[in-house]
Amino acid sequence: MTKLTRRAALGAGAALPFAAALPAAAAAPKQEPMQQNVRRFNLGDLEVTTLLANTVTNPNDPQTIFGMNVDAETFKEVSDAAFIPTDVNQFFFTPTLVNTGESLVLFDTGQSPEDITAAVEAAGYAAGDVDTVILTHMHGDHIGGLMSGGAPTFANAAYVTAQAEFDAWAAQENEGFEANVRPLAEKMTFLADGADAAPGITAVAAFGHTPGHMTYRLSSGEKSLLVAADLANHYVWSLAHPDWEVRFDMDKAAAAASRRNILGMLAAERMPMIGYHMPFPAVGYVETRGDGFHWVPESYQMML
Ligand SMILES: [Zn+2]
Repeated sequence: MTKLTRRAALGAGAALPFAAALPAAAAAPKQEPMQQNVRRFNLGDLEVTTLLANTVTNPNDPQTIFGMNVDAETFKEVSDAAFIPTDVNQFFFTPTLVNTGESLVLFDTGQSPEDITAAVEAAGYAAGDVDTVILTHMHGDHIGGLMSGGAPTFANAAYVTAQAEFDAWAAQENEGFEANVRPLAEKMTFLADGADAAPGITAVAAFGHTPGHMTYRLSSGEKSLLVAADLANHYVWSLAHPDWEVRFDMDKAAAAASRRNILGMLAAERMPMIGYHMPFPAVGYVETRGDGFHWVPESYQMML
């Protein structure tokens, strides 16, 4: 009661002179919408930076991509419950930089050399500073920044990718692979599940999205985080319902099995992850909910 009275009195007293002091045409021009595009934090001795290389609004029915094997009503119910629309959705493309102190490692390269170069520079580095590029898999939105005008975008980098991934794409006549990956083959190291890409960076197989799709566990001291790449492509539709089919999953059953397996591990270990297509800054936790999972965006945990 006392507080209310006091506040009302202050308000009444302040309102008149403030309003009188405002010029009639004081409206400032509106700015463009603004989106943060760099997020950096420490994970033990590792410095981790997520980079928003691009974000795009998909004006088409998202169910042509996500939840292809469920009816429209179910899709709408799940979306409504999560406060997201069903006639449009937003895509995010988020490569990750890891500075180990000895090595500057880039996970994936976005859709174009212009995007990834600008993103790396926004984080305070030059493309020439990157000494290792890890390719989680070889879809266009991950390999699109590798080559720039016929030359490697990352002039000083060596490359790491899964043997199974390279072999699968090399066996096809794929334009993106031939233009961006094949020219770098001599600089590539090929690894299998459980191998170390660099000290503290270990491959964890998550096949299905593509034949050799790899996630990577970062470890430093007591801290761990999974660079989950395209294990789950949407923070609601792919987590709440890991079995919902996603158009970009090449082997849909294997992709769903990998989701259940690795999301279950993340939930059990309470380990954070970075998802390439999660809403920026793309860092969060996974908890079990019902028969599926739920995305818990990082708030300030990584600042501590
Ligand atoms: Zn992708």
